[in-house]
Amino acid sequence: MSNRTYIIVGASLAGAKAAEELRSEGFDGRIVLIGSEPERPYERPPLTKDYLRGETAREKTYVHDPGFYEEHRIELETGLSVTSIDPGAARISISDGRELTYDRLLLTTGAEPRRISIPGAGLDGVYYLRTLADCDALRGRLEAGGHVVVVGAGWIGSEFAASARMRGLEVTLIDPLALPNERIFGAEIGAFYRDVHRQHGIKLMLGEGVEAFEGKGVVERVRAASGKPIACDFAVVGVGVVPRVDLALEAGLEVDNGLLVDETLAASSPHVFAAGDVARAFNPFYGERIRVEHWSNALNQGPAAARAMLGQPVSYDRIPYFYSDQYDIGMEYSGYAPQWDEVLFRGDRSDGKFVAFWLRDHRVLAGMNVNVWDVNEQVQALIRSRRPVDPAALCDPDVPLMSLAGETASGR
Ligand SMILES: Cc1cc2nc3c(=O)[nH]c(=O)nc-3n(C[C@H](O)[C@H](O)[C@H](O)COP(=O)(O)OP(=O)(O)OC[C@H]3O[C@@H](n4cnc5c(N)ncnc54)[C@H](O)[C@@H]3O)c2cc1C
Repeated sequence: MSNRTYIIVGASLAGAKAAEELRSEGFDGRIVLIGSEPERPYERPPLTKDYLRGETAREKTYVHDPGFYEEHRIELETGLSVTSIDPGAARISISDGRELTYDRLLLTTGAEPRRISIPGAGLDGVYYLRTLADCDALRGRLEAGGHVVVVGAGWIGSEFAASARMRGLEVTLIDPLALPNERIFGAEIGAFYRDVHRQHGIKLMLGEGVEAFEGKGVVERVRAASGKPIACDFAVVGVGVVPRVDLALEAGLEVDNGLLVDETLAASSPHVFAAGDVARAFNPFYGERIRVEHWSNALNQGPAAARAMLGQPVSYDRIPYFYSDQYDIGMEYSGYAPQWDEVLFRGDRSDGKFVAFWLRDHRVLAGMNVNVWDVNEQVQALIRSRRPVDPAALCDPDVPLMSLAGETASGR
């Protein structure tokens, strides 16, 4: 048996899947998985969806069964934080006073909600949503009903708003942008989601910032930047996340909007790797470093980092993918499109079933299928092909997407 020690900091999806991969790839040394939350690793997507609404048992949110870690000799240490890393000595310090040395170190410290710093932000009744504990508190609020103001119409804010509405709450969704998620997806998709929320009875205040939370100890009102007061029973803030890089920074690792890693997910210091929301990894397909805050990235990048830690060849070049569910609208998005010059549609937005494509120089950079299934692989093939496409063929549902990618339906 190997006497090597591999330490993983951050016991969430990326960390847990990395530990699993180390064992399934035959590593028989010591694996220590340390997480600051009291829970064993769980998945976060249900926290704005079925688990939040009380439709799914808590057990379903966990990444593994309770016995998994012991069975695989993974030393899962929950409720403890790694407080420092000394890369020179290959040593970490833990909040309970212990120090451990490592042969390989993986940082999967994830991201945390960006805090809003306006007057009243510390009042009771102003919530963020990242952890199971946050979600449990909000489940209680959904149970009690009333009026919630959701600040930020990004994915977390929008999904929370949809779930609150589905539970019968009165919901106001406020965002400084003119349309939900407009900066990332543009006006067409923004308008689609605006209309979806409206149809479901959400009160939208778009193009409107928030100036303060007001109340005596507990939030009673949100004051919009225009001065308008919005009375509420509680508020939820979803204004994005920031990568948790403090540990890495203090250890002298290279950080710039995330912990910088190469295509093998190795950081700037020997034997240190990173994966998941915290990592800004060089993606050879794009020829640049990107940081991806999606479930599938944590799911795949954690195991890829594990293989790299074992010395296997790794070149992480996956196309980013995420999904979102709001009301009865399910969607999947693949790609990376920081800039585009047109958005084309296959299918009709008005009946809520379509595929949107973001193009630059006639090439598809990204695609979003809304209530249309089993096309994601084809969208990814199209992106990967980098082939210029004929707009009419792209918009024609009778033309197989695979043929536009230069492949047959069987993928050849
Ligand atoms: C409510 C919600 C809904 C979401 N829904 C979707 C969705 O529908 N689709 C989608 O694609 N993505 C979704 N996401 C995003 C997805 O969940 C994240 O991309 C994913 O959780 C990232 O996993 P991770 O393991 O990299 O990091 P995280 O999940 O952020 O976990 C990092 C862990 O590291 C721990 N940690 C940090 N520092 C230390 C330390 N010093 N010592 C010990 N432990 C530490 C943290 O406590 C945390 O548990 C959602 C996210 C949230 C919050």
